[in-house]
Amino acid sequence: VLLNSVTLLLGSAISYMLARKTLRPIEEAMAAQDRFIADASHELRTPLTGLLLDNEVTLRKKSLTAKDVRMAMERNVQGLTKLKDLSDTLLDLVARQQKNAPRTVVSVEQIVRSAVSQVAPMANKKHITFVQNIANNTLTIDEAKLTKLLVILYDNAIKYSKPHTTVTLSSESVGSDILLTVHDQGIGMSHEEKEHIFDRLYRADASRSHGDGYGLGLAIARKLAHDLNGSIAVQSEPGHGSTFTVRLPRS
Ligand code: ADP
Repeated sequence: VLLNSVTLLLGSAISYMLARKTLRPIEEAMAAQDRFIADASHELRTPLTGLLLDNEVTLRKKSLTAKDVRMAMERNVQGLTKLKDLSDTLLDLVARQQKNAPRTVVSVEQIVRSAVSQVAPMANKKHITFVQNIANNTLTIDEAKLTKLLVILYDNAIKYSKPHTTVTLSSESVGSDILLTVHDQGIGMSHEEKEHIFDRLYRADASRSHGDGYGLGLAIARKLAHDLNGSIAVQSEPGHGSTFTVRLPRS
């Protein structure tokens, strides 16, 4: 009887431990999701409150001129465009989490070309030149995800650089991996900033960040790199530009 009880107790303890172990990642994923919903709601709420207040103040004015109304409408359109961009980004993030696209054989050159064409208008406006040092490599990969990842890195490189500078993309093959680096001559970042830039909704010092963007780009970039079984890292110093390195398995 004693042996049976001990076996039963041991069995229960092991089952309990196994169940806890299985449940832990699910609990963690749910906690991360809750945190994200809270962060995203906060991000949506702040500009919404601003817009609401602005409209109330305008309406409370005793004598509203056509000019006042036009200016208020312009601020509304600006605020709403930002909110639309944010909700598009959030929806895109969720869609990407669910979608498992097929992998195809593509050349690094082809992917870079497609990413550059998406950011070219923004770069042209700032007279930023793209330089490419691309080895003749191919990857077996989800092309859309890698293109999106590069677009995010290019987008930031342009956003955080002065006009008339250069953004360089290099690729090299290391063992069974491909290393892609995006280097800019922009404002760079401190050690403290580097620690957080891949976190969701983190934005460095608002005065440097131009007021646009929501601090989601690099969080999505990291998620994409992980989805592609790779990794992403940054090297940077204030005033000396930034280099983002993406490491991906070739197949
Ligand atoms: P966003 O650009 O919308 O603020 P990101 O997640 O793309 O959000 O970037 C987070 C922060 O990292 C930015 O606010 C910026 O401070 C910093 N950062 C990103 N890329 C660069 C870069 N190439 N040079 C300097 N700082 C950068």
